[in-house]
Order: sequence, then C-alpha cells, then structure tokens
Amino acid sequence: MWIEGFYRGAVARILLIEDDQRIRQLVAGGLAEQGHDVTGVAAAMEGLNALVADAPDLVVLDLGLPDLDGIELLRMMRAVSDVPVIVATARDEDPEIVRALDAGADDYLVKPFSVAQLEARIRAVLRRARDEAEDPILRIGELEIDVAAREAMIRGTALDLSPKEFDLLRYLAERAGEVVSKRDLLAEVWRQPYGGSDKTVDVHLSWLRRKLGESASEPRFIRTVFGVGVKLVEPE
Ligand code: CA
Repeated sequence: MWIEGFYRGAVARILLIEDDQRIRQLVAGGLAEQGHDVTGVAAAMEGLNALVADAPDLVVLDLGLPDLDGIELLRMMRAVSDVPVIVATARDEDPEIVRALDAGADDYLVKPFSVAQLEARIRAVLRRARDEAEDPILRIGELEIDVAAREAMIRGTALDLSPKEFDLLRYLAERAGEVVSKRDLLAEVWRQPYGGSDKTVDVHLSWLRRKLGESASEPRFIRTVFGVGVKLVEPE
C-alpha cells in the first residue's frame, strides 16, 4: 500500500540497531508497513558501518547491545554524524536516559513500546531536524547561536558545549527574555514531561553558566526568577 506512506508524508530511511531478533523483526516490519525504508542490524559495529555506508535519515538504537555499550556506540556515531537518533532502553532509569541524551540522543523510548509510539517519535524528531535546518542564527548581545551548525560563540570564540548544554542554551535563546520553568525544560529539552528531576536541570544550568563565564551568584546571560524558572537575557 504505497499510498499510505505517501499520505503520512514522513517516509524515512531508518537504521534499526537491535540485537533481539524478535523485536528487530517486529519493529522493522511495523515501520516498513508505514512506508519507511528500514535496515535492521544486530550489533554495534555493524550499525556503525551501516551508518557510514548508507547515511540514513534516522537511527533507532537499542542501548543493550552484546558487543558494545549503546551509549559508547552513540558517542562514536556522534563523532561522524549528526543523524537524529532515538534510543530504546530496557532500563527505565533517569541516569541512564540522561546519559543517553547527553551523549547526543534526540529522544528515547522505554521498552516495551508499540510501533505506533515509535512512529510518533520518529515523525517528531524528523520534524525538529527539518525545522533546525531552516533556523537562523540567534543573537543575544555578544552571544551567537548557529542552530544548524550547533555552535555557540561569544565574541567569535566557540563555546565547548555538550549536546544537552547546547539544546538547553538554544531553547532559552529562542525564548530570550521569557521566563521558562524547569518543568518546561524537562519536558522540552529532556523530553521528560512526566518525570525527571529539577536537579538534572540545575546541574546543566550550572555547567552552562560556567561555560558562559558566569555563575548563579554573578549571573550575566542566565537569570533565575525565584520560584518560577530561568530566562536568558542580554547582559547589562
Ligand atoms: Ca538488547
């Protein structure tokens, strides 16, 4: 039924890295039924090779692989590609998910999940990737953020930000002058609308502040609005 994929308008070339044969067949079959072009591999190194050889639109990565920790693989993938990655984890643990997102995952699903849930995430991640490609450079005083290149600079000097620090800075910069709550940041930057801890946000804010050359006691760009959240402003 080719027309199904046509209607949905989000047909993608997907690389699925999953060692469990039953899950791999189920997920690959389900996504193929939605019109996606799916390549399934069972091991990390095979996945890395397929990423380089095929340049897929999106990767679905199982974190529990036999030959290499999935997060290690994700770091290796990030060294060679900006491809959107959705991680699948059997471990419903905050630190594990935060580690994956910090390593550059775009989104995550906790097993067991349905193909429909995965498909919804795929559509959202591809939409974000497309929007990102069209975004301009954000300027807040001396701070410049090139969203497409995922680079932030102050007076022309690049900041050495982790993927999650960049996402956090970008989210605040897109809403410069507006107060954003930690709950919003968890939902939008960490994709944890119903869980997660403010501490995750606090820790990353403090790292980001250090890289922006400021601290909570001597803020410049990032202002705390007590009891409400934070906002990014042009320093006085
Ligand atoms: Ca596995």
